[in-house]
Amino acid sequence: MLDKLKEIEKSALVALQSVKDQAALEAWRVTYLGRSSPVMQVFSGLGGLSKEERPAVGQAANKVKMALEAAFAERTEAVKAAMLARSLEEEQLDVTLPGRGIRVGRLHPSTQQLRRVIDIFAETGFQVYTSREVETDEENFQALNFPPHHPAREMQDTLYIDAGDRGENPLLLRTHTSPGQIHTMREASSKNPENPPPIRVVLPGMCFRSEQITARSEVQFNQVEGLAVGEKITFADLKGTLSDFARRMFGQKVRTRFRASYFPFTEPSAEMDVECFVCGGAGCQVCKQSGWLEILGCGMVHPVVLENGGYDPRRYTGYAFGMGPERQLMLRYKINDIRYFWGNDMRFLEQF
Ligand SMILES: [Zn+2]
Repeated sequence: MLDKLKEIEKSALVALQSVKDQAALEAWRVTYLGRSSPVMQVFSGLGGLSKEERPAVGQAANKVKMALEAAFAERTEAVKAAMLARSLEEEQLDVTLPGRGIRVGRLHPSTQQLRRVIDIFAETGFQVYTSREVETDEENFQALNFPPHHPAREMQDTLYIDAGDRGENPLLLRTHTSPGQIHTMREASSKNPENPPPIRVVLPGMCFRSEQITARSEVQFNQVEGLAVGEKITFADLKGTLSDFARRMFGQKVRTRFRASYFPFTEPSAEMDVECFVCGGAGCQVCKQSGWLEILGCGMVHPVVLENGGYDPRRYTGYAFGMGPERQLMLRYKINDIRYFWGNDMRFLEQF
């Protein structure tokens, strides 16, 4: 029996020499250390041996089992090391290659342009006031001198919100950022009704109109509006501030011109044009050969609007202006379709 154990050990160790991978290791373990392996069978046959033989055979079998287990553990390590060495050699990892870049997101072109506009006015002393997108008819129209049924409302087709019968004051999505003027003035004047403080704010944000969506009109777009209210503010302040804005935004040499216009909430009202920054004023397709680009609307705040905001128009005056960042981008980059802005097409957005 002891000879047989030696034989078992020898053949197992020989077989182990040819084991080269994980699968062969497992097969070897089952064959030589498994439940029905020769060594284990020696253990289960111990009962049939005489009392004298049993301890010696048991001891010898134990030794063989431990020797095989140790050899197996050693071989396992060797196989693992060999596999690692082989994979390193085959895969040829080049640690000097630069790492894969992380894709960094970016701001939407409209947001970028909004921020450019805001930055310029911030340098001039304007604060940013963000205002809600859902408004009442009173704040979006009436307080801004658009009475119910006023024909000027036709310039701003409106998306209404179903909020039950609210009479002449339905809820709506703001059609312009101008209700922010009312909020700003009311907030400031309510703190000190006798002596309301001066105001200088820009009001950026999304506006909504019930428009047919075409290359030139969208149901949503951004506006940046500005409002300055105080004592002795004149049209000269408006012109100076906006001409300075145009120079900072479009170049120090850019010329501007003001044309008379109409808005219900300003009097007098004007449009400001800048010299075409595509052709330098010579005339091109973008400026339709005129040499000028219409950039913003502006005017002196209407006395009715000042009054609605809690400012006495006999003591206070002010000016307001509004512009569209998408329009500015369209002119600057010759974008011929406004639908690109909200179409979520990465090919467009990634260019900014
Ligand atoms: Zn031009």
